[in-house]
Amino acid sequence: MKLPSRSKAYMIPEYSLTGDLLSFLNCNLQYRYQNKGTLPPSRPVQRWFGEFIHGVMEEAYLQWDSDNKQFPWDWKEDIRPIEDMIDVRLQVDGLYPYDEDLFYSILNTDLTIDDLNEHDHKKLASARAEKAINVWGPHLFPLIDSTELTIKGIRQMPHYEKNVSRSNYYGINGIVDVLSSLKINSNLSQTNLDNYNNRIIEFLKKDPEFARKISDFTDGDEYEIIIDYKGMKRPAAESPDRINNPWENHEQQILTYSWLRKQQEDAKPIFAGIIFYLNELVPSKEDLLLIQDEIAHDLTDDEIDYSQFVDDVERIMNWNEDEKAPELSDEFKIARSIRIINIDDALIDESLDKFDKVVFDIESSLIQEIKGCKIQDAWKGESDERTCKACDFKTFCKNNSVKTKDIKIP
Ligand code: SF4
Repeated sequence: MKLPSRSKAYMIPEYSLTGDLLSFLNCNLQYRYQNKGTLPPSRPVQRWFGEFIHGVMEEAYLQWDSDNKQFPWDWKEDIRPIEDMIDVRLQVDGLYPYDEDLFYSILNTDLTIDDLNEHDHKKLASARAEKAINVWGPHLFPLIDSTELTIKGIRQMPHYEKNVSRSNYYGINGIVDVLSSLKINSNLSQTNLDNYNNRIIEFLKKDPEFARKISDFTDGDEYEIIIDYKGMKRPAAESPDRINNPWENHEQQILTYSWLRKQQEDAKPIFAGIIFYLNELVPSKEDLLLIQDEIAHDLTDDEIDYSQFVDDVERIMNWNEDEKAPELSDEFKIARSIRIINIDDALIDESLDKFDKVVFDIESSLIQEIKGCKIQDAWKGESDERTCKACDFKTFCKNNSVKTKDIKIP
């Protein structure tokens, strides 16, 4: 009797929005070495602040939700213990801040919270955590429905070929930082947050694209907003020096999240996405230099009306990096820290097409490598100077865009 052989395992490749899409777009070859080669980056520091601020915001929300503590929160009493809790979690994962000036880890010292002084308060990561909680917490936390929501979906493998493609479908997954829901009426007053003067809603009302669409909403119905925190400055809208464009990629990320969320049974219609660029609340000198350059070369996005911030723009443009950082108005920093993403079906389709294209490119490189092609030939190494400078693989990457000096052998 012939025994039937076991059929081949059917596996669908899974792609994540941040781990795969954004990382592949940064540099195909670096993505290959880091993700498919399972080599952790030697400088996880680049991830530290992003993970830190996400953790701090989530924990702050959970504490606000259980205790309903009034804002503003005291840094030493209310926020510092949260920072330390998150720092411990990150250390367990092998993530550390790269610079003592960025964060004062209580675990590495004999100090206690009571010994910390105002100087430590000025450490960049702590200063940003405090601002993020006290500036956006009062407006964001009352809107939150859920945090860290995992969303998944499945799509047809682009250009599927039997016996060539690895699978006829692929999976997309992502984690939504915050999902909030609102009952709204056509003038956008919130029916579930009566008499509450919410800044996030104010920004939504001012967004011209959003104002145009408001008549499409049904009064009294509940809608959702997808919110993402970024531990970075607001990117330039135009980035001529960059191979990929983070401004566009972030929009694509939110649009793809919207599509994934729509697949879930309990989803309500999504009426907007919001990204918080939290470094803008306390910009570093490096951030300020980039902002200065973007304003000088007209690379900023048109969502902010800079004519309303003439003094701030003047201070930035007249500032020299050897001087103390310019004092910027809270209004300017807040305006730069929030970005509204409009959600509509045509834009979602466009972003999914781009995702398909990225998956096709990854799969094509993978298949070439499986067939025996050398890694550096199968995966395109191409990125901007900043990324190459920080890349672990620059010493042997033949496409490294950082020019190394010739070494003269005597
Ligand atoms: S050195 Fe530059 S081109 Fe080479 S892998 Fe790293 S980021 Fe990519």
